[in-house]
Amino acid sequence: MECKKDQNKENCNCTYSCSKKGICCDCIAYHRKLGQLPACYFPNDVEKTYDRSVSKFLETINERGPIWN
Ligand code: SF4
Repeated sequence: MECKKDQNKENCNCTYSCSKKGICCDCIAYHRKLGQLPACYFPNDVEKTYDRSVSKFLETINERGPIWN
């Protein structure tokens, strides 16, 4: 299976300068190891804070519902 990096990048809302952008398997593994979720689980305004913690995710969906991009 070919990596869909370019296609994935079109749908990626991450604003951090990062070499893993579009390589979703590496992205989620990286954040999982840190007890976090990747940028695409957060709405744009929350994503920009770079707080990718599970607690921030839960706080966000409790306030807004599951409305990530
Ligand atoms: S969510 Fe994290 S790992 Fe993924 S592209 Fe953004 S900074 Fe990189």
